Amino acid sequence: MTVEGSTTVPTLLPTSIVGSLPKPAWLARPEVLWSPWELEGDALIEGKQDALRAAVQEQRRRGIDIVSDGEQTRQHFVTTFIEHLDGVDFENRETVRIRDRYDASVPTVVGAVSRRKPVFVDDAAFLRQQTDQPIKWALPGPMTMIDTLSDHHYRSREKLAWEFATILNQEARELEAAGVDVIQFDEPAFNVFFDEMKDWGVAALERATEGLRAETAVHICYGYGITANNEWKATLGSEWRQYEESFPLLQQSSIDIISLESHHSNVPMDLIELIRGKKVMLGAIDVANEAIETPKEVADTLRRALEFVDAELLIPSSNCGMAPLPRRVALDKLSALAAGARIVREELAASGA
Ligand SMILES: [Zn+2]
Repeated sequence: MTVEGSTTVPTLLPTSIVGSLPKPAWLARPEVLWSPWELEGDALIEGKQDALRAAVQEQRRRGIDIVSDGEQTRQHFVTTFIEHLDGVDFENRETVRIRDRYDASVPTVVGAVSRRKPVFVDDAAFLRQQTDQPIKWALPGPMTMIDTLSDHHYRSREKLAWEFATILNQEARELEAAGVDVIQFDEPAFNVFFDEMKDWGVAALERATEGLRAETAVHICYGYGITANNEWKATLGSEWRQYEESFPLLQQSSIDIISLESHHSNVPMDLIELIRGKKVMLGAIDVANEAIETPKEVADTLRRALEFVDAELLIPSSNCGMAPLPRRVALDKLSALAAGARIVREELAASGA
């Protein structure tokens, strides 16, 4: 059991978050995605580091065990990575449909894509200096990256995905060398493009993780709590069975941890039976709703999950990133997550599990 201020990570139900946390208002405009920075130059670099430090401190104070950077140094979980690559033109933007759901202005691929230099490695090394707790770093998955671009060069989604997988693998190996314990790939596209996911999506993801000793995770979700996603969810009916498409393939894959959405979603809990043997990062916190979960609600969600996943493989988490939430709400949700996990951890200890 953790004591406040200690860096002991509980062996059962270590808590984590999917990735982003709200940024402080002095760094970027709150409660919007792709929010522009409020600072420039050296002040921006220092501001990002200060925000990252605060994110680490809050996670620790509120009982999060596997710590992330809260994505304080990036504007967006996909675009910021792509911005650092050669072959992509950010001036000539085009409007495309993202995950078949909403239109966005995106950059175009105009030549061979490559990574000039590490993208997040310095930020990850900085995170590593801030804590002795295990740290997790999120990267976009190859299929989600191609869905956020207009391609005029490869003219093949599969070919471009393989190129990105190679680039992601370079970055992931350097993140591992910088001391990252868990490398997570965000693949919300796996909940939308089932044929491509089966044909080459999971294989491209495995290519991105090739040779890593760090633990690997894939996060698949129904998106941030923004209007376009909430409207899409409303069309999905009373049972969301999208994970049924990806889970059997992921169960057979080399990926260690599967991160999914659960609390307040219509995902049938028994679908996690399909990833039996994998670690399950279970969303026990709703990110589309500003109401703070009670510890009891979190505990109830975790208990229901424990019917289908072994306790030593369960990682209580959030449904998705929390960037668009008010800061106070997001931080209070961290406390609720930790308190709910603590309840179930104590029950497991009492029952001799
Ligand atoms: Zn998500």
